[in-house]
Amino acid sequence: MNAASLPNSAAPDAGRSRLEGAQPIQLIPAPRPGQSAPHEPALAGLVPFSSVDWPGQLAAVLFIGGCPWRCHYCHNPHLQERSSQYRWQAVRDWLHSRRGLLDGVVLSGGEPLSEAALPGMIAELKAMGFKVALHSAGIYPQRLAAVLPDLDWVGFDVKTDADGHDALTGRVRSHWPTGISLEMLLASPCAFECRTTWSPAWLSETRLLALAESLAERGVRHYAVQNYRSSPDVPPDAVLSLSAQSQLAQWFERFEYR
Ligand code: SF4
Repeated sequence: MNAASLPNSAAPDAGRSRLEGAQPIQLIPAPRPGQSAPHEPALAGLVPFSSVDWPGQLAAVLFIGGCPWRCHYCHNPHLQERSSQYRWQAVRDWLHSRRGLLDGVVLSGGEPLSEAALPGMIAELKAMGFKVALHSAGIYPQRLAAVLPDLDWVGFDVKTDADGHDALTGRVRSHWPTGISLEMLLASPCAFECRTTWSPAWLSETRLLALAESLAERGVRHYAVQNYRSSPDVPPDAVLSLSAQSQLAQWFERFEYR
């Protein structure tokens, strides 16, 4: 995913140290030889406070380890493999202490829908009184359908157009599930934003505009273009032209260029 607080703060170690400053969290001990590990949600990272991962909301961000895609620009390859750094029970206890201080919780990744326990986690977060948001690339339409009624907001990655999709994700027919997921979002009352991490290295400005226009025609109302940076501290390798920004702003009720 392309969470705004990524990539630095999503690194498990960074998230852990920031959390420990607020409240100790129990790490998962390695199983002893011959001992099978109990099932734990793949909680690979945590940012305790974020104002940039869910527009207008102060939220904690939980990063699920696991993603079947291999986007060539992925800033978080450590989140592609399933891995756990935190016990769900410990995180849940910590979140309990944050009721009234946080508006909600963002489930990011990796691809958070790769976690089979996600529906139960969402139900528990809602029971605690939190609003819940999901960052997803739409890889698992059926799993999205199962949790969509319980979500308050979705940040939906539109990686690129159909022609370039498989080359970007490293997976064949990867465009197919995203189209189904987008249809579900459009048919749902859940608020959502589509966003594209952009570089002319894989998507020309002309193709980006064609992609955005097709999204607008399908009914997408909120869209963001995020400049690709090879690391957070370096400037983007290209800047969207002012004419393109102006055109995009006309197509959407809300457009952001980040
Ligand atoms: S969808 Fe792509 S960018 Fe997001 S976690 Fe998976 S490989 Fe990385």
